[in-house]
Amino acid sequence: MNYEVKVENLCFFYGEVNILKDINLNFQAGSFVSIIGPNGSGKSTFLKNLSRYLEPQKGIVMLGDKDINKLSKKEISKKVSVVPQNILLEFDFKVKDIVMMGRHPYVNRWKGETEEDKKIVEKAMKYTNILQFSDRFYNELSGGEKQRVILAQALAQQPKVLLLDEPISHLDLQYQVEILDLVKRLTLKEGMTAISVLHDLNMASGYSDIIIMLKEGRVYCQGKPEEVLTVENIAYVFNINVSVSKNPVTGKTYVYPISVISKKKRKLKIHIICGGGTGVKLIQELATLGFHLSTGVLNIGDSDWAISKEYELDVAEEVPFMSITNEAYKRNLELAMISDVVILLPIYLSKSNIMNVKLLTDCKLKDKKIYIVEDDNLEKRDFTNGEAIEIYKELLNKPNVVPVKKDELKEILIKADENHG
Ligand code: ADP
Ligand code: MG
Repeated sequence: MNYEVKVENLCFFYGEVNILKDINLNFQAGSFVSIIGPNGSGKSTFLKNLSRYLEPQKGIVMLGDKDINKLSKKEISKKVSVVPQNILLEFDFKVKDIVMMGRHPYVNRWKGETEEDKKIVEKAMKYTNILQFSDRFYNELSGGEKQRVILAQALAQQPKVLLLDEPISHLDLQYQVEILDLVKRLTLKEGMTAISVLHDLNMASGYSDIIIMLKEGRVYCQGKPEEVLTVENIAYVFNINVSVSKNPVTGKTYVYPISVISKKKRKLKIHIICGGGTGVKLIQELATLGFHLSTGVLNIGDSDWAISKEYELDVAEEVPFMSITNEAYKRNLELAMISDVVILLPIYLSKSNIMNVKLLTDCKLKDKKIYIVEDDNLEKRDFTNGEAIEIYKELLNKPNVVPVKKDELKEILIKADENHG
């Protein structure tokens, strides 16, 4: 594989504070890669480590086959250019002079700028649609115009790798598309590698070959847009509720935020046994439908726990990496008892959470309607040497327990709510 940029075991500290934590990434030549993550997750710091603006305390950045550490500033500038986040600086220069600064690493100090340099600058201005104001002063331009000037300067550097930090945040929609189209074209036609921090998840989805999701200075996940932009990942990393579908025109993954304020209120109380992200989608859907929900036993920090908190549900919770304590078990039972319906989702089963399934055999729940969501993977989910499977068998023999398919569940619950007194 032809990697233009490789990052190995990179750690970065501001003073004592560990901002980037053991980052390992490969960027393929000619790819468009987006970096997404909440504010403060380290996106800008990461880009600054790639351009050598900041020096990591640990780890290596390779540009092609060269360790960036062994390259001079000038050599780096011939390979990497940067469109920084804050472009609203005061520059008392004309636009064309600012773009010409992009030729700095190439210009011979004695000869000055050549015809070739001028041609490249003009081309960069044409690309970014700023030729018409090449003689105006930078300070007199709008935010969007400034952003295009800085991009033109970066392109005049003729980089192999273009780093962009929120390059479209000051632009209106027309220019957002224009700029990202331009960058995308450069990746496709000239094999330039683009690494861009983007806030807009749908823009990231539309343009990226690969998306990297950062959370608290770590790579939480990476992959194709449809692999990364899932309801579960977004709920966990951004703490927001979204629905994800395909854009009907482009076929690209499309993310819609969902308000946590639902209009309809239903009477049916539902307790959900979930964990490890199995509950995120269902919690979101049922909460949006106006059901009264509770969850348990969930590890604090788990994605199901996070979304439960987001919707202000009652949660039986437990400290991570601990077996379910008596106290948490009791709380879970209590929540199940005051519900009308209990749902068991296809969770991974281990010694530490087996009490979540055992709970359902409690005689206090013998008249409670219990739905077990089936997934044909029970054996694969079992890490209890069959103990959990035995409990499942026992449960399925009970008259109050009903196996259901995931797709049927919503309809069943809506009906149950309508029949509920
Ligand atoms: P993002 O771009 O994802 O919003 P940043 O990379 O800008 O995040 O910041 C990551 C973390 O580093 C934040 O907690 C921020 O407060 C901290 N930070 C950023 N710049 C500095 C700095 N110059 N000195 C100390 N801490 C900083
Ligand atoms: Mg930033």
